[in-house]
Parts: sequence; structure tokens; C-alpha cells
Amino acid sequence: MDLAHWLGRALADHNEWAHSHGGRVTHPATGVLEHDLEDAYSELARRLGGSYPFFHPRYAGQMLKPPHDVAVLGYLAAMLVNPNNHALDGGPATTALEEESVAQLGAMFGFEAPLGHLTSSGTIANLEALFVARESHPDRAVAFSSEAHYTHARMCRLLGIETRIVPVDVAGRMDASALREILTDGSVGTVVATAGTTGLGAVDPVHDIVVAAHSAGARVHVDAAYGGFFRLLCDHPSGLLEDPRPWHAISLCDSVVVDPHKHGLQPYGCGAVLFADREASRFFHHDSRWTYYSSRQTHLGEISLECSRSGASAAALWLTLKMFPLTADGLGAVLAAGRRAALRWADMLAASEFYDLYQRPELDIVTYIPRTEERRISAIDRASQQVFDRAAADAVDPIFLSMLQVDSRDVCKLMPDVREDKPQMRLLRSALMKPEFESYVPRLHRKLESIASGVS
Ligand SMILES: *Cc1c(COP(=O)(O)O)cnc(C)c1O
Repeated sequence: MDLAHWLGRALADHNEWAHSHGGRVTHPATGVLEHDLEDAYSELARRLGGSYPFFHPRYAGQMLKPPHDVAVLGYLAAMLVNPNNHALDGGPATTALEEESVAQLGAMFGFEAPLGHLTSSGTIANLEALFVARESHPDRAVAFSSEAHYTHARMCRLLGIETRIVPVDVAGRMDASALREILTDGSVGTVVATAGTTGLGAVDPVHDIVVAAHSAGARVHVDAAYGGFFRLLCDHPSGLLEDPRPWHAISLCDSVVVDPHKHGLQPYGCGAVLFADREASRFFHHDSRWTYYSSRQTHLGEISLECSRSGASAAALWLTLKMFPLTADGLGAVLAAGRRAALRWADMLAASEFYDLYQRPELDIVTYIPRTEERRISAIDRASQQVFDRAAADAVDPIFLSMLQVDSRDVCKLMPDVREDKPQMRLLRSALMKPEFESYVPRLHRKLESIASGVS
């Protein structure tokens, strides 16, 4: 798609719409001189050049990539108006787009008529789910695994909720039998299962968790901020995901969070939370003396903790879902390519003389360890840092990776010949979120092998 053409079209359509309302009125107070802008903008462009090239597969690090051009178009077209989806008073057109998009997210998870809305981020979406957890069971704790996103502990502290940390198995998934044990005393009100942990992309056994929790009278919230859109692939005939059961079981849970700004091709500022029971809206009850006047319909601000929220986010997501519907062949095809790349690279790493594969990827996050002569945690930790630094420092063909800190005990369980001389160790981690990795992985691997061969 020709983005320049479509951005021009969005600007023209906006101007035509503005014209129908009498055209833009200017005031000298907001005027700028082209000459000043030239200088300021040139500086901005130069400074943005200091960014990491997230768009390119040589960026094989954190969960970062640019939005799809379609999302840029949807966002810009709406941003020129700058609707606020807090209330129908602020965003009548984009509120409808948000509701349609959220309904599609709900259908993906198998939620019938959920209560839901977009949020500024996964953190805020999870905060709302934890808030509802507290209001549902004011005197009971929230349980999540030791691999859950760090914001759960933080938000529970903010909300004054007690927490229980559930241990994980060697693959980083919540240990369901440990959870059953924790649930026996009835002190837990809500269990947070993670479908795609941030570190390893591990998928908790949601199917076991939901049975254990519901039979103990506890609710289940699924944090699928990262992994949620893999739901599209769980019934794929090629068996791209090993176990469909956790994904199917999300439909039985009480709430779920997914981040369209991670795997949904969106720019930042787009998370989503959905509650299976529309009655959850009672916890959000409040009055606003300023808004909610334009319509008697529910305003999104009446069912969310945030006030102002970008209507442009909803427009961007809505347009993206038109082009990439929530099916295995739609948006699913984008995730499938990254998943295949992860499987392929994992095989190459497992066969490499310079690296060990740390965990077989469950989704599209690959974790690996430089093989050092000295079989000590501290030596591997140092080698990881060296590969990380040298890969990024290459002047011609840099590669940008990320690292993950893990417990040395977990490493020694998987690699018994390694001596534990330090409690924690860093290893290398690549989130293969772009379909382009599918063809780029061999090149990435060769390059990283040549870097590792120079590291001791
Ligand atoms: C990224 C992530 C979050 C936090 O989401 P933000 O959008 O970064 O605020 C929460 N949980 C999981 C599992 C994540 O991967």
C-alpha cells in the first residue's frame, strides 16, 4: 500500500469535512513560521534517527515493532479530529468503532456479549481486572505465578490486595497442582493466568486453572496482553501451537486482557479488557458533572477507570481489523509466520556448536545461551552480555537483541553440567514478532554464530 497516497487522502477528506463545518478558522496565536518549523522539525528528525530500527528483522529483541500502515492511516484520519472515547460527548463516531472492535476481540476469545473496552495499555487493562477482582472478593487474595508480568504485584499493592505467588514448572508455566494447594484454604478470590508470559512466552494451563479456581469459588482473569492473538492459531490444521486447551478455556474465564499494541499491529496506546459478565459494570459506577449529556446510551467512560482516551486508537484498530480480520488466515497469518520462524530458529540453535537453546518456544519468543568453555553461570552470564554488546556494535550489520534474567537453578536443571556460582543469570532473548523473520532467521543465526565464535 502507498502510505503517502493514503495519508494525503486522509488529510483531504478531513479538510472536506472541516469545510462542511465552515472550514478551519486560524488565529495568530497558533501560527508558526515555516522557517522556525524547518529548524525545529529538522532537529526532531535528526534526533529520531537515534532510535532502534524496530521495523527491520535485525531488531530481534524486545516486543517492539511499528504499527501497520493501515493502523497509521486509521489513527491519523481520526487524530485530525482528536475524538475522546471517554464519552459520546467526545467521540460519537469512534465510540461506535471501539464497540465494534471490542465485540470482535470478545468473539475471538469466545465471550458472548462481554463488557469491555480499549485502554491505554495492558497495564491499565489488567489494573481494571484486578480492581474488579478486589470489588468481587474484597477480603480475598489474588494469585499469580512467579512468571506473571511485574505489574500484577505492583497494581495489587496499589489496590491493597494481598497476593499469593504460585510456582512454575521448568517451562515457566503455572504449576496447577501447586495452585490447587494454595486454593484449599479459600483465601484466594481471583487467580491470574498468563497466556504468553513476557519473558518466555509460556502459556499457563488455563484449562486446569479455571477448573481448580471455579471449584474453589475463585474467579479467573487471563492476562493475554502478549499472547492473546495466538488464540487465532490454536485450531490451525498444521498444529502450529502444541496445545489448544489453554486457548479454548479462556472462554470459561471471568476476564481477559489483550494488547492490540503488541501483536495487533497497533501503535502504542491500545490495550483491551473484557469481562464475561456485563454486571461487572456496577463496580465502575460514578458520576461525571461534565460529560455524559449527549446520549442516554452507555458512555465508555462509565465502564472504565480512565477518563480521556484516544478515539484514534479505536479507529486504527477498527480499520486494521477490516484488513486483517481475527481469523487464522487474517491476523493469524501474521503471527503464524513469526511462530514458524521461532520453531525454525530453535532447531538451528539446538544444533549449534556456539549456542544452547534455553527453552523450546511455546509462541514466538526464542531464548538462547552462548556455549562457553567454562561451564559456570557467571561465565555464561558474561558471554550473554558480550554477544548482546558486540551484535549491536557492528557498524555495518548490527543486530539488536534483548536479555532475560533467570534463576540459575532453572538453568542448572536444564543443563546439569553447569556450575551454579551466582544466583541469577542473563541469557539472550528474541521476540520474533514480525513475519519478516521467517526468511531472515538463517541470516540472523549465521551472524550470531560468528559473533559467539569470538566470545569466550
Ligand atoms: C506487555 C505485558 C503487560 C503490560 O502491558 P503494557 O501494554 O506494556 O502496559 C502485561 N502482561 C503481559 C503478559 C505482557 O506481556
